[in-house]
Amino acid sequence: MKKHDNHECQLTEKILNFRLKALRKRKVHSKEQLSKPVSFWIREDRLHDGPGKELTIILRTSGCRWALGEYGGCSMCGYIQDASTMELSEFDLIKQFDYALESKAEEIERDSSDYVIKIFNSGSFFDELEINPLVRKHIYKRIAESDKFKEVVVESRVEFVNAEILKEIRECLNDKRVEIAIGLETANDHVRNAYINKGLLLEDFKQIILMCKRFKIGIKAYLLFKPPFLTEQSAIDDCVDSIRTCIDLGVNTISINPVNIQVGSLLEQLWKQKKYRPPWFYSLFSCLKKALTAEDLKKTLIVSDPSGAGSQRGIHNCTNRECNSNMIDLLKKFVSTQDISVLANDYHQCKCSFSYETQKNCH
Ligand code: SF4
Ligand SMILES: [Zn+2]
Repeated sequence: MKKHDNHECQLTEKILNFRLKALRKRKVHSKEQLSKPVSFWIREDRLHDGPGKELTIILRTSGCRWALGEYGGCSMCGYIQDASTMELSEFDLIKQFDYALESKAEEIERDSSDYVIKIFNSGSFFDELEINPLVRKHIYKRIAESDKFKEVVVESRVEFVNAEILKEIRECLNDKRVEIAIGLETANDHVRNAYINKGLLLEDFKQIILMCKRFKIGIKAYLLFKPPFLTEQSAIDDCVDSIRTCIDLGVNTISINPVNIQVGSLLEQLWKQKKYRPPWFYSLFSCLKKALTAEDLKKTLIVSDPSGAGSQRGIHNCTNRECNSNMIDLLKKFVSTQDISVLANDYHQCKCSFSYETQKNCH
């Protein structure tokens, strides 16, 4: 894991103070709440082989170790607010997973679509303090029982990924397409560690890709669009470079996540102080058009499903609802077709494109 330099130490101190305050405001969950996941849903999604559906299950665990530790976690992340303050047993977690799966089983069975199942825990699936090996194996067994699930995605920080864990998931899920989602956020070590406080080096990410390839496991990279302290223009440049790096490294899926302001994060404080504005759709589209060719899209799946899109806390253009919903529709169309030409001519439909041009160099 990356060691902190002086600049990063100052940011870490701020994040840690802020995090400690936010943690004190966390809600205590009842026993009943602990036996149900934070959330779960079925939605249309783009799979590697074409359009399909996702079953996403967000488990409530004890929370991300990076956010709970001495470094205070990432500057844009507030997920720890949803974590349990009480100790969770393996039975609680098994109940959470089974509850979600059983609630949706009939709908999935009736549906002719192929599914991707995404098990998220707003931390690391492979961290035994969050999800113990018994729970992991139970989840694998249940997923393996269904032919509907063609793809499986779990997320983890790199320090919890190792050969033994990859061998286990590969063997348990035999012919299913498996991807490990990793928050790379940006290919730039300085932006990632000095501004996001991720505690991760590109070199470590590269090693994990090689390890995953040995087990025929794919990598999904999360890229953060417009990290704190970057202008719109530098966010475009940073993300273009990151997309290119991921493609060159053979990443299988790139998920571009435009910042959404999360409660309890340092970024929320910067936003409240008007020192940060979430990205414009115009920036995201100009980044995608600059970074991607039709050839790239044949080998790398590009997805983006921004939380809070169109709201003040999420990626947005002006206050005109139609302007934002046009952009959301365009983005959805691009993701489902993987056709970059869909994003041509997104400009000048709304007069806010002029004020955008004047704000491109602002934070
Ligand atoms: S972004 Fe991921 S690694 Fe960073 S604090 Fe949040 S859950 Fe932890
Ligand atoms: Zn507009």
